[in-house]
Amino acid sequence: MKAILIQNPGKNSSLKIGETPTPEPSANEVQVKIEATALNRADLLQRTGNYDPPKGAPDILGLEMSGIVEKVGDKVSKWEVGDHVFGLLPGGGYAQYCTIHEDMAMAMPGNLSFEEAAAIPETFLTAFQALDWLAKLQEQETVLIHAAGSGVGTSAIQLAHHLYDARIIATAGKHHKLNTAKKLGAEFTYNYKEQNYAEEIVNDVGPDSVNVVIDFIGKPYWHKNMEVLAMDGRVVYLSFLGGHKVEEISLIPILRKRLSIMGSTLRNRSEEYKIDLTNDFASNTLSLFEDGVLNPIIDSVYNWSDAEEAHERMQNNKNTGKIVLTGM
Ligand code: NAP
Repeated sequence: MKAILIQNPGKNSSLKIGETPTPEPSANEVQVKIEATALNRADLLQRTGNYDPPKGAPDILGLEMSGIVEKVGDKVSKWEVGDHVFGLLPGGGYAQYCTIHEDMAMAMPGNLSFEEAAAIPETFLTAFQALDWLAKLQEQETVLIHAAGSGVGTSAIQLAHHLYDARIIATAGKHHKLNTAKKLGAEFTYNYKEQNYAEEIVNDVGPDSVNVVIDFIGKPYWHKNMEVLAMDGRVVYLSFLGGHKVEEISLIPILRKRLSIMGSTLRNRSEEYKIDLTNDFASNTLSLFEDGVLNPIIDSVYNWSDAEEAHERMQNNKNTGKIVLTGM
């Protein structure tokens, strides 16, 4: 099959379509002819050699896909050849074919295109895991979602709005990203490049008012997060785009406000965990995608031969929502 291969992994890496063996399904897997995949920030790190795939995962980029079942393993009972599926991959999405455990594949809602379905798994499952499984967000709590225009951010806002009727505060560095956040359900939005969001939140929402923070930024936001968190507040760290070494930390807010500080990565979780998460996510959300209540926010669609250009767009923080690759 053809796949996008990383040339010169490292600082000067490039992407090139080349030949690689087609993966064959084991007993509990299906082989999928991939119709679309989507970019994730992890892809940018992996090509520079800073994020190795977990043991046993393909070294081809791509953490999600949508496509058509081409072959089924001997023990597969859920799927037939020709079914339209989408789901999370540990790698291998930038290719013509992949294999996936039958329980990790989800049935594509009939109203969604392959491009739309491919834009869902990684960011929506990450957001669902963070809000539901980790932070245990409750109905009508207040949640602060950073990098609100990111793939994960746009997914988290929608889930917080539609599953929990949460009061949503969002931050981003561009006005059009904040406008998208508002349209998706955010009530308060702040441009971190122009405003001190902690001061604004205290003014607009109240002191100690944030129950849950979903943070991808780290260092520059630590002190502000501590300032706005409510009693029994929870913080979920998913990335440290702004750095990971925080100076002059006081641990006092953690004790005084009884805070829970968590971190997670989805990719290196066990297959069993990802199957449970996928099932829980599917049962809570697929009907909402079908009804058009939840929507993957698509920034742009590129032919996979232009993957380099697509990566550049993400690297330069230009995307609002997902960048999709198709045409494989
Ligand atoms: P994305 O669509 O590329 O969006 C990332 C956005 O973050 C950028 O567009 C930029 O928006 C903002 N940003 C970048 N650097 C920043 C900085 N120094 N300070 C403030 N904002 C900054 O990303 P994604 O694919 O949705 O992923 C979002 C983050 O979650 C990534 O870091 C990714 O690695 C992480 N992630 C983690 C997991 C996990 O399981 N832990 C899973 C999936 C993704 P502005 O224009 O607003 O600055």
